[in-house]
Amino acid sequence: EPSAAGRVKKFVHEINYCIIRQEPKNGGKHMCGIVGYIGDEQAAPILLNGLSKLEYRGYDSAGIAVYNGTEIKMDKVTGRLQRLKDLTKEGSTLPGTVGIGHTRWATNGSPSDTNAHPHFNKDRSIIVVHNGIIENYSKLKQRLIGKGYEFVSETDTEVLAHLLDYYYKRSHNPLEALTRVMQKVEGSYALGILFNDYPGQVFSARKDSPLIVGHSESGNFIASDVPAIL
Ligand code: GLU
Repeated sequence: EPSAAGRVKKFVHEINYCIIRQEPKNGGKHMCGIVGYIGDEQAAPILLNGLSKLEYRGYDSAGIAVYNGTEIKMDKVTGRLQRLKDLTKEGSTLPGTVGIGHTRWATNGSPSDTNAHPHFNKDRSIIVVHNGIIENYSKLKQRLIGKGYEFVSETDTEVLAHLLDYYYKRSHNPLEALTRVMQKVEGSYALGILFNDYPGQVFSARKDSPLIVGHSESGNFIASDVPAIL
């Protein structure tokens, strides 16, 4: 009976080439992370801290968006979360107590600053972070382009921002717009959404992607996983 190593040697001898790879540490599941906060404290440092607790899930880029009392400001970068922390001086350049954050694991569109989340409608009044995949995004994108919408990224997620814009302009109701979008899209999603017209609220929805909600004395949270809000 040959040893395991002996069998392997024979096997290697009989093939010309192969590719081996280690299973991803997360078991090959598509993960990444979202986090959202609204409360008494500055949102950006809380979001950055939350995202760092989700780093174990893997990511290729990161971004945050914060409502500053007048408008929603955002920063997003390719690469390590530390780059976003440096760029925003640990969040201090994005003041405000309402915000959403994202670490991206690219599925549609290469890892780039433009493809990093958050994504937004034309006047940046609707801001979206998304974990998951919109399977029918290409059909929806073509329809939206036909209605005059312009896309800046290659992501499936940007479809959500413009589709929300489309239904919000008709209903002037963010929940109704979100419901219509959920009826139109196929695939998986956990979403964090800011509407400039509703600065006191973070909107969220999920299907087949994880999302938890947390309450505390000083604020409320959404996140892809529990460590982000502990
Ligand atoms: N499908 C989206 C993208 O490629 C979201 C990926 C993710 O879950 O990070 O941008």
